[in-house]
This record gives sequence, C-alpha cells and structure tokens, in this order.
Amino acid sequence: MDVLSSGVRKGDRRALAQAITLLESSNPDHSCDADILLASLLPYSGNSIRIGISGVPGVGKSTFIERFGLHVLALQHKLAVLAIDPTSKRSGGSILGDKTRMEELSRHPDAFIRPSPAGIRLGGVGHRSREALIACEAAGYDVIFVETVGVGQSETTVADMTDLFLLLLLPGGGDELQGMKKGIVELADIVLVNKADGAMARAAERAVSDYQNAINMLRPASNDWVVPVRACSSLNGDGIDDAWRLIGEWRNVMQSNGAFEHNRHSQAQAWLWDAVRDRLEMEIRLQLDQSNEMREITKSVADGQLTVSEAAKKIIMRYRVGKAT
Ligand code: GDP
Repeated sequence: MDVLSSGVRKGDRRALAQAITLLESSNPDHSCDADILLASLLPYSGNSIRIGISGVPGVGKSTFIERFGLHVLALQHKLAVLAIDPTSKRSGGSILGDKTRMEELSRHPDAFIRPSPAGIRLGGVGHRSREALIACEAAGYDVIFVETVGVGQSETTVADMTDLFLLLLLPGGGDELQGMKKGIVELADIVLVNKADGAMARAAERAVSDYQNAINMLRPASNDWVVPVRACSSLNGDGIDDAWRLIGEWRNVMQSNGAFEHNRHSQAQAWLWDAVRDRLEMEIRLQLDQSNEMREITKSVADGQLTVSEAAKKIIMRYRVGKAT
C-alpha cells in the first residue's frame, strides 16, 4: 500500500487507476487495504474544486466536458473526470466507458478520465466515487468534474460530493424545465443552455431568459448567489470561457462567506454515515445472505406478505442474534 500510495501522490496515472480500482472494489478481502490506502491519501486531498455536471442524455455533456476540460487544461490546471451512472448497477456498463467520447481530453497528459464504477453490488456508488475523488486530489488534480446522467437518481449523490453543481439544458422552451424534476434544478449553482449555435441560437437566447425567470422564482440556496443562466455552445466554444469565469466568481463568493468550507464539512459528515450504512449492510449480508431465513424474508417481501419495515427489523434481529452467539 505504501508503494501504491506514493505512486498516486507522485501523480502516476497507472497507480491512480489501480488505487481507484481498489477503492471501488466490493470484495470484502480488499477492504482492509482500501482503508489503509485511503487513510494515507486523505491528508493530501481537498485542494481542488469539485464540479458536478448534469443534464439529460443528448444535452451534450461529453461534448461540453471535452471542450470545457480543454479550456481548463489550457489554464494550466490538472483535470480529473469521474462519472456516476445510476444505470451501471443494472447494466454493468458505464457512461464514460462505452463510447469513444472526449477523445482529445483522454489523450491529454494532464487529464485523467475514469468511467463510472460498474457492477457494484454492495455499498453505494456515491461512497465509492467520493473515495475516487480523494485519490484524484491526492494525485494533484485540482479540478474535478463529476458527470452524471440527468435522470434524477444520482443528482443528489453528485451534489453531495461536489462543491458546485452545473446543469446543462437544451434550448427548448420552458417545457423542459417543467418536465424536469424540480429538485434537480434547485440543486444547480450555474445553468448553461447548450447548443446555442446555428439554427438553435435564437431559441437558446429565449430559453436563457425563460429559464432565468423560472429560476429566479425558486428559493435561492444562498442569499449571496443568484443562479446565473447562460448560453453556450460546446461545438464552437462560445460561452465556455464565461462558464469558467462564473465558476471562479462563485468560488470567491462562497469562500468569503464561509459556505464553501461549511459545505465540505457537512459532506464529510454525511459521508461518514454513508460509510457506516455500507459497512453494516456488507456485514449483515456476509453473515445472512446465504441463510434460509434470509431467503424466506426476502421472498415474503417480494410476495407482499411482509412489509419492508417488518422485514428489516427481522433481519437486524437475526443479525444481532448471530453476532451474540
Ligand atoms: P450527452 O449524451 O449529454 O453526453 O451528449 P453528447 O455530448 O453525446 O452530445 C449529443 C449530441 O449533441 C451529439 O451529436 C453532439 O455532437 C451534439 N452536441 C453537443 N453539444 C453541442 C452544441 O453545443 N451544439 C450543437 N449544435 N450540437 C451539440
């Protein structure tokens, strides 16, 4: 673990990839090594801006990340891109892994791109991704993008592990905002209407003012920040530098009013409880998953004969009895 940890801290990308694989591993035999590794990296983490990027499939997330990422790299930053994919649990696939996306970015020596963890059975995706984020920071990446599909399940997870949430929208009418889960829009710190080019340029302009009006009616998360809505084109690069400038402004405001630090502290506390839940679930499953009683309980829940809450109580009781004997 010492060798791996120092490899990560030196910025060795292969060591970083290997470290993340270990941290993401759901194999209980790896958990001890993973803990040691994480503990050795933690003191070197924290020196980055963590940016969540979301939007419905097709809005242009990967095109945006490629363009925006290259802009950030040109400013001498080191960039890591992680992904959280709520569907990866089911399909075993990942949003960054399957397509030949972000070609230029993936070849850049100062960029590190990591697809979403696939096939995680135990433990939450968010918990693992947070650990991957820590490893990237320890490796010297000072700008981290966490990408997610804008379908509602993973946005809160991403918002809970990032400093700033950037939402991409299409130049449709206000309908899109209506159709979207209001909760997602409320998470946004900056909104960008992508594809503001060619035939869609006018529609994008209108969308910007529609969305801005709609967003101004929401209760702001901070009294010091009015969520800005801007147009951009990931295809021709318009508005990309403006987006980075806005992030800088946001950071200045949130650092000077203390919200930046405060948010990180509460995220770390939430992370702790996620970890407790994960660990407990893993222990319970290890002890009981193969037992007849567990099979009966889960079957009764599936058949509608037992409520989830009753079943959970039974499982915990059974676990306690097993622990005590
Ligand atoms: P994702 O599913 O959100 O990752 O979206 P992609 O980045 O894969 O983009 C979906 C489609 O939109 C692709 O055909 C892109 O070329 C196109 N696209 C992305 N950004 C822009 C843009 O700024 N302008 C235009 N005109 N097309 C774009």
